[in-house]
Amino acid sequence: MKVEELAAQLISFPTEMPPGNEEECAAYLRDYFRDLDIKRCEIEIHRFAEKRANLIVRIGPRGRAGLLFSGHIDVVPAGDPNMWSAPAFEPRIREGRLYGRGAADMKGGVAALVKAIETFKNRELKRGIIFIATAGEERGFDGLKALIRDGKLKDGDALYGVIGEPTELRAVRAHRGGAIFKITSHGRSAHSSMPDLGINAIENAAHFIVELIGLRERLGEIKDPDLGSTVLSTTVIEGGIKENVIPESCQVVVDCRIIPAHSSEYIRSRLEELALRIRERLPTLQLTIEEVLSYDPLNTPRAHPFVKLCEEITGQPSETAPYGTEGPLYQRLNISTVVLGPGSVKQAHIPNEYVEIKQLHQAQSIYEELIRQICL
Ligand SMILES: [Zn+2]
Repeated sequence: MKVEELAAQLISFPTEMPPGNEEECAAYLRDYFRDLDIKRCEIEIHRFAEKRANLIVRIGPRGRAGLLFSGHIDVVPAGDPNMWSAPAFEPRIREGRLYGRGAADMKGGVAALVKAIETFKNRELKRGIIFIATAGEERGFDGLKALIRDGKLKDGDALYGVIGEPTELRAVRAHRGGAIFKITSHGRSAHSSMPDLGINAIENAAHFIVELIGLRERLGEIKDPDLGSTVLSTTVIEGGIKENVIPESCQVVVDCRIIPAHSSEYIRSRLEELALRIRERLPTLQLTIEEVLSYDPLNTPRAHPFVKLCEEITGQPSETAPYGTEGPLYQRLNISTVVLGPGSVKQAHIPNEYVEIKQLHQAQSIYEELIRQICL
């Protein structure tokens, strides 16, 4: 089976997140590895919820593995079928491209990682390889978090990590962290003909949003040489029940992208500080601030030997990315990680998603070279 054929097989599993349903796709990969009949190979499905599963495969000698190869097998929803020129989960090859939901993000990358491992299936490895297919990457990394929580991957299990997300075959060594805050403005309902009897939760939230824009500007003054500055944006607002009722509740969602100099705790404290300051002039303001999720930044140094090796093999300088990945979760386990894979992030999350088949083959070769240099 060629890399594009394996990628097509993976695309045919509709692993839309939500709800996930990754278990069948993980089981397909488990069977694929079993059929390879690699001598020293442990294969385990890690089921963490109904129809939700990761796959972890350990190949070669015990002890600290040389490489961890990782990719997620969930995909974002296909959306409106009318926007696709063919069904999203019926992969098709046309003019050198493989089309289907997940072609670029990132079943193509997963297939290339697996095929690279397959190339060495009969070789004696000096250092082991760990392969992980994760579930739920598109929603707060819930699969990988469960895998680590359940002790399936431990601190220092591997030296270097590669996540095959679409980077057009360049090594991404750093990206910002992130956090999502849900802020609830609490008011009191009243008839809108007598607004003074109530507390308008939407209007109070509006004061907060305006101040938030000021906070963004202040945070923007601090620049990371690689990653720019921390940004935050109001992305969702919800409130009110009827045109003639003073709203008693309003929710605002704030999405933050955070440079290593800051942290989600720091941003939270700044948001709380804002609320206190507004309250001094607006005593009816009552807010609760809740962190829905957060993730660390990835910051593998530019001069790290693994980054240098990836630059050498890809023939391209390493770079940074504006989006988040599972990388920081590996980084926390002392696995120096880069993101490097086939396809473009511009293709991710859109109708008629595709990956260039040539890039799938190039990715496979890059991964093979990494194995050759680190594990043989
Ligand atoms: Zn992805």
